[in-house]
Amino acid sequence: MFDNLSEKLDKALHVLKGHGQITEINVAETLKEVRRALLDADVNFKTAKEFTNNVKEKALGQNVLTTLQPGQLMVKLVKDELVELMGGDAEGIDLSGDPSVILMSGLQGSGKTTFSGKLANYLKTKKDKKPLLVACDVYRPAAIDQLHIVGDKIGVEVYSDRENNDPVAISKAGVAHAKSQGLNVVIIDTAGRLAVDKQMMDEIANIHRAIQPQETLFVVDAMTGQDAVNTAKTFNETLDFDGVILTKLDGDTRGGAAISIKSVVNKPIKFIGTGEKMDAIDVFHPDRMADRILGMGDVVSLVERAQEQFDEEEARKIQKKIAKNKFGFDDFLSQIQQIKKMGSIKDLMGMIPGAGKALKGLDVDDDAFKHIEAIIHSMTPDERSNPNKLDSSRKKRIAKGSGRTIQDVNQLLKQFDQMSKMMKMMQGGGGKKMMQMMQG
Ligand code: GDP
Repeated sequence: MFDNLSEKLDKALHVLKGHGQITEINVAETLKEVRRALLDADVNFKTAKEFTNNVKEKALGQNVLTTLQPGQLMVKLVKDELVELMGGDAEGIDLSGDPSVILMSGLQGSGKTTFSGKLANYLKTKKDKKPLLVACDVYRPAAIDQLHIVGDKIGVEVYSDRENNDPVAISKAGVAHAKSQGLNVVIIDTAGRLAVDKQMMDEIANIHRAIQPQETLFVVDAMTGQDAVNTAKTFNETLDFDGVILTKLDGDTRGGAAISIKSVVNKPIKFIGTGEKMDAIDVFHPDRMADRILGMGDVVSLVERAQEQFDEEEARKIQKKIAKNKFGFDDFLSQIQQIKKMGSIKDLMGMIPGAGKALKGLDVDDDAFKHIEAIIHSMTPDERSNPNKLDSSRKKRIAKGSGRTIQDVNQLLKQFDQMSKMMKMMQGGGGKKMMQMMQG
C-alpha cells in the first residue's frame, strides 16, 4: 500500500536527521520534498500546498522543542497533518433504522457490488445484523447474477426482480421485503456507468429521494487517483452522500485519493477494500493509515486481527500440551490456520513497522504456508503427534509425498523444534523475562 509515497516521504524526512536544529532553511527543503512526494502520489495541488504550509507553520512555531530530534518532530508533524487531512477520527455508519437502509453509489467497475457483499458480510458476522442485499441494476442482467453469487457466498439473501425495470420500485419493494422478513439492514446496489452521466445521476437521485436511506455511500476505486476525487465531487453535488468507500487499496495505489478526498468533498472515508475476497474490508482509521504511509506499520490493527481470531479454549488446550511436551504437528497446523484467517501475508507484513520497506521488491508468496502444510499432511497421525519418530527413511517418504526436498522437511522440523522450545520457555516463567528484555 502506498509504497512509493512511503519511500519518498521517508527520504524527505531523513534529510533533517543530520541537522541539530530546525531552521527555516532545512524545514523549507524538507517540505519541498514532502510536497513533491504528495504530488507524485496524485494528491491535488491545492491540498499538497495547504498541507506543507500547515506543517511549516507548526514546525517553526515549535523551534523550542529541543528534546526531540528535528527529524522525529517533523515526522510527528507530518503524521498529525496526514491524520487531520484524512479525516481525524474513524467514523462508523448509521445503523439506527429498522431496517437501516444503505444506498451504494459509484461508477461501474468501482467495486460497488463486491463492497455491498463485503459490507453485508461484515455487518452479519461482526455486528450481528440481518442484512438484505437488493439488486437495482436493471440494465445489466449480469450485475444481478453477480450480486446473487456474492449473496450465496456469504449466506445473505438477495432481493431482485428481473421483470421490473424501475429501480425506484425495486428498491422500495426490497425495503418492504426486509421489513416483512425481519431483516434489519438493507444494502441497495445500484447501476453504475463507465463515466458520470445525467441519466445515472437522475436515477440514483430518484432512488435516494424515494427511500431516504440512513446512509448513502460513494464507492470509488483508489487506483484512479485524481479522477476518483473529481467523480466524488460530482456525486456529492447530487447526492450529498455520507461517506466514501475506497476500494482496491491492495493494488499499486499511489495514495492520492485516500489523502485528498476528504479535503475536497468534506466527507469521511468510512471503509476500505483491500482485496477481492469477502473479508477484505477494513474500517478506515486515519491515524493508522498515516502510520502505514509513514512506514510505521499498523500494530493496532494487527493486534485487533489477532484478537479476533484468538480462540481462548484452543489456547488453553495448546498450553496444556506444551506443558506436557505433547505439542505436535496437528497443533502446529491449527496455529497456521488461525494465522491464515487473519488475512493475506502481504497485508499482515504491511502492518509490521518497517517491514514494508524491508520487503519492498520481494515477492511475498501469499500462500507461504502451502509447502509446510503439504509436508505435515504427508505425515501419519502418529508421526504428527510424535515428531521425534521421524528418522531418515520416514523423512524421505514425507518429502516424496509432499513433493518437497529432504532439506525442506529438515528445515520444517528444525523450525518446529525451535518453536516448541520457545513456547516452553514462555510458559516456564520465561515469558516474563522476555517481556522485561523487550522493554529494555
Ligand atoms: P461494480 O461494477 O462497481 O459493481 O464493481 P465490481 O464489484 O464488479 O468490481 C469490479 C472489479 O474489481 C471486480 O473484478 C472485483 O473483483 C474487483 N474489486 C472490487 N473490490 C476490490 C478490492 O478491494 N481489491 C481488488 N484487488 N479488487 C477489487
